[in-house]
Amino acid sequence: MANPLILVVEDDPPIRNLIAVTLKAHGYDYLTASTGDAAIMQASSHNPDVVFLDLGLPDVDGIEVIRRIRTWSDLPIIVISARSEDKDKIDALDAGADDYLTKPFSVEELLARLRVMQRRIAAIRASNNEPVFVNGPLKIDYATGCVYLDDAEVHLTPIEYKLLCLLAQNAGKVLTHSFITHKIWGAAWESNVASLRVFMATLRKKIEPTPSSPQLIQTHIGIGYRMLRI
Ligand code: CA
Repeated sequence: MANPLILVVEDDPPIRNLIAVTLKAHGYDYLTASTGDAAIMQASSHNPDVVFLDLGLPDVDGIEVIRRIRTWSDLPIIVISARSEDKDKIDALDAGADDYLTKPFSVEELLARLRVMQRRIAAIRASNNEPVFVNGPLKIDYATGCVYLDDAEVHLTPIEYKLLCLLAQNAGKVLTHSFITHKIWGAAWESNVASLRVFMATLRKKIEPTPSSPQLIQTHIGIGYRMLRI
């Protein structure tokens, strides 16, 4: 089997080289691009497995690169941005990015994010059109609308169920507050993070084996939530 192919889009040579060397040392193949236009070209001609995308590029904005790639592909995109740019991360996730890495980051962090994306790809391939979602102790039977934790049925309200299904269908991907509220309550609903937090707390009490240290649903402060594959 061929090594996974990773496209690294970064205009800062030291960071680009650090990522490239790390990938090579851990059995990944890589391509690099230092502009948005080159990134779009590389993504369309080589069909990489994952893209690492710096948001601050000299020509096209990184968010525009995501939008363009999303017109033909749903390949995982991990955004790289500076710590102060929460708004940019949210815009990138809403444009279709899957995850983000904050500068400065460690090599271990980079590899961990890559593993999350690889699990996400594998799970999507395996569970295509599966009527039952299984993740660790959690099971969702979409046909009957029943949810189980370690085979014991869990009773959820309609909103909690919708929220859980949305997270499950996007397992591995960070979903922003506004994406979630839009999907659950529709366009008319003002993005209300406080209410979402309340529903998330009650959902967690029901489906997390240890609600005080959640394993299934990860909080991204100021950004949103992600269901992890466990
Ligand atoms: Ca940059």
